[in-house]
Amino acid sequence: MQTSLAADIKDTPQGRQADLILRSCVHCGFCTATCPTYQELNDERDGPRGRIYLIKQVLEGKPVGETTRQHLDRCLSCRSCETTCPSGVHYARLLDIGREIVEERLPRSSGQRFMRRVLRIALRTPWLFRTGLAVGQGLRGILPGSLRAQVPVKRRRGDWPTSPHSRTMLTLAGCVQNGLAPDIDAAAARVLDRLGIRLKPASGGGCCGLLSHHLTATQEARADARANIDAWWPDVQAGAEAIVITASACGAMVKDYPQLLADDPDYREKAITVAKLAKDISEVLSKEDLSLLRVRQKRIAFHSPCSLQHGQKLGGQVERLLQQVGFQLTATSENHLCCGSAGTYSIFQPTLSQRLRQRKLDALNGDSPQAIATANIGCLVHLQGGTELPVKHWVEWLDAGLGS
Ligand code: SF4
Ligand code: SF4
Repeated sequence: MQTSLAADIKDTPQGRQADLILRSCVHCGFCTATCPTYQELNDERDGPRGRIYLIKQVLEGKPVGETTRQHLDRCLSCRSCETTCPSGVHYARLLDIGREIVEERLPRSSGQRFMRRVLRIALRTPWLFRTGLAVGQGLRGILPGSLRAQVPVKRRRGDWPTSPHSRTMLTLAGCVQNGLAPDIDAAAARVLDRLGIRLKPASGGGCCGLLSHHLTATQEARADARANIDAWWPDVQAGAEAIVITASACGAMVKDYPQLLADDPDYREKAITVAKLAKDISEVLSKEDLSLLRVRQKRIAFHSPCSLQHGQKLGGQVERLLQQVGFQLTATSENHLCCGSAGTYSIFQPTLSQRLRQRKLDALNGDSPQAIATANIGCLVHLQGGTELPVKHWVEWLDAGLGS
């Protein structure tokens, strides 16, 4: 693609990176076929090729209007287009650059900025989030049906094993997962304990930075990344084998820390080390001898989150693992499509988000599963809000299937 970037952007690091990405796009349009928003809205500007063109116009100095922002806001950042693209276009990075420039040139209304700030604080502050969640769960029984469906049911945390092992791995403190589904990391710890690995609970840090990153608060995302690196660093230096991440969106974010902190001389090298150690729980288990792990038969539909299959390029790995230990995976369709959760997308784009959820649930339910498994807390809560079937992280189903 030919480009002619505006003078004030073309010689900046962002401008050079965006120019390279834009030039790698050959405008073939293959990506539109696998884009969920294009599938739903059938508008070129709600597909990757159209959005790339809109970002190109912004970078070339054309006026930025609400229409451009609307089409960029509707993107789920699911990266399905990257998986499809034969030219290797790094769309997600281009979108980040485009969104940052649009925020600068066309500031949102004060009401929208306030709402986004409140969300960033409420979701990234564990005590605040847990308090709000507990109030909502306490009132759940008297809420009208439509509102009740928005409040996740209370889930309990089981025991965290304390046996000593010579092998140690770390966890991510995270933000909303421990409030919404506190047993996911504990289930991972119990499964790893059977394999002779100690999963050490996080002793600091917090949100991986993704929530702020999604809301174009890049400096805040960098601060979150530094806090996590500082929390892990003593154990990394002491020889921890891996940083085990059970939320695939957080895993994709931590693996992207080298890009996020590339301009920070104090954290650049540490970010590279941490990103190499960061592993989705499926990556850890796939390297272990699982012959001792056998579950009682259960028919499960697996939803592979976009952050797992498109972000971390780990498509198919969890499915293989689940079948290896004895689960029966039911047939599903449109596996590449997003469920509509996408961080705060379900809050800001509720109609489209719910349409995508129903489409995903129809695709998951087609072969009559007994339960649904996924690998990311956002997808888990979003899907559970639309079905009576139990939805859990696959490591929770594995832990439960192994029995005590
Ligand atoms: S598939 Fe790749 S090269 Fe083709 S239009 Fe989409 S982003 Fe561009
Ligand atoms: S990231 Fe997802 S929603 Fe956005 S353009 Fe690519 S495929 Fe479409």
